[in-house]
Amino acid sequence: MTNVMHRDFTERKPLPAPNSDFYQLVELLNADELALVKKVRAYMETKVAPIINKYWSDDQFPFELLPSFKELNIGGLGYEGYGCAGGSQKQFGFVAMELARIDASMCTFWGVHSGLAMGSIYLDGSEEQKQKWLPPMARFEKIGCFGLTEPLVGSGSSGGLTTTATRDGDDWNLTGQKRWIGNAPWCDMSIIWARDVADNQVKGFIVENKTTPGFSVEKIEHKIALKVVQNGVITMQDCRVPEANRLQGGNSFRDTARVLRMTRYMVGWASTGCQMGAYETALKYAQERLQFGKPIASFQLVQDLLAKMLGNVTACQCLMARLAQLDDDGKLRDEHASLAKAFCTSRMRETVAWGRELLGGNGIVADYNAARFFADAEALYSYEGTYQMQNLIVGKAITGLSACI
Ligand SMILES: Cc1cc2nc3c(=O)[nH]c(=O)nc-3n(C[C@H](O)[C@H](O)[C@H](O)COP(=O)(O)OP(=O)(O)OC[C@H]3O[C@@H](n4cnc5c(N)ncnc54)[C@H](O)[C@@H]3O)c2cc1C
Repeated sequence: MTNVMHRDFTERKPLPAPNSDFYQLVELLNADELALVKKVRAYMETKVAPIINKYWSDDQFPFELLPSFKELNIGGLGYEGYGCAGGSQKQFGFVAMELARIDASMCTFWGVHSGLAMGSIYLDGSEEQKQKWLPPMARFEKIGCFGLTEPLVGSGSSGGLTTTATRDGDDWNLTGQKRWIGNAPWCDMSIIWARDVADNQVKGFIVENKTTPGFSVEKIEHKIALKVVQNGVITMQDCRVPEANRLQGGNSFRDTARVLRMTRYMVGWASTGCQMGAYETALKYAQERLQFGKPIASFQLVQDLLAKMLGNVTACQCLMARLAQLDDDGKLRDEHASLAKAFCTSRMRETVAWGRELLGGNGIVADYNAARFFADAEALYSYEGTYQMQNLIVGKAITGLSACI
């Protein structure tokens, strides 16, 4: 970045290195948890950060990273047994935060596979299904996606899925479309949520993408956010899926919602990590960038923005740390996860915008990272249920009255 610093500026004492853990939350981790979090941080800083802007600009997924990503051993983090990485929800959250601190797309790739796809099987699958699918998924030998949203049904998916599941002997026939499905254009298997025409309930199915006739995926082009994640439109025309691949514990949207509760919790951590990355990027830039003969970080109005960014980051970290305790104690409720998702993603939008602002013109160029955090935040704000839908869930819990039709 020195090419944009118009002259050398030497301070009398070295400036502090940017550190987005202002309240030392890292001290909440035990030695094993800390070792994993440090390993993930080192990986993201050395392997991902140097190449990710190129992939982001090119709308491509960095397949070259997959072999080393697998070695982090974070497949099925937070789940016990079945070859999964296990560990506390606190550790799961800190890992999500570390991934997103460097790149929200890599965090999302992992969140879709390990959280949404594996989580659906872990929470709603039979013992046999868990034994069959989770070990290879934990090893990243089979990569999954999660198909709930449809072209015409997004926020209203609890009540109105149009993809149908029709029982036919020992098989099911799935017909319909899914939109926005992360990893879908290249992954191995999909969790597809469809409405059983017999009882009108939402059920989940494990569909093998590459071998199921009638199953096709088209990549969504021209996104402005999470460009590294490959999202697809899935079309299913009379796809035959065996009853053995119907999630045996997924019998209504309530079972889908259990998965979403867990992954919305994760988005709270991811959006906190995204802000941390934006804050550290902006602070480093402000310490180095000279205007009027001084680092811009020495100006009062710039320090005000940096302090507000750090306030947002720290508030979200503390909120998520408490939520992790509730989750580890088995007390996490839908409305808890929704409040965190809504609050942290809205603070994130503010933080990444201030970060972009602090880089001036360079804030809109991908090479300087701030633009990527800024754009990616928009996807996190809307996916896994929009801000409005999360607040409607909170609103129902605190008033006792549903505002949804
Ligand atoms: C990058 C990305 C990745 C995604 N990955 C996946 C994935 O892997 N799998 C998957 O299934 N889905 C995925 N999604 C879909 C995502 O969950 C939906 O985009 C989201 O739920 C919103 O649905 P929608 O886009 O159809 O918006 P809509 O539901 O059409 O909403 C549009 C606007 O209307 C508002 N609105 C809707 N209903 C109400 C109401 N009752 N009251 C007030 N406001 C309301 C919304 O808040 C929003 O602002 C992804 C989306 C994105 C952008």
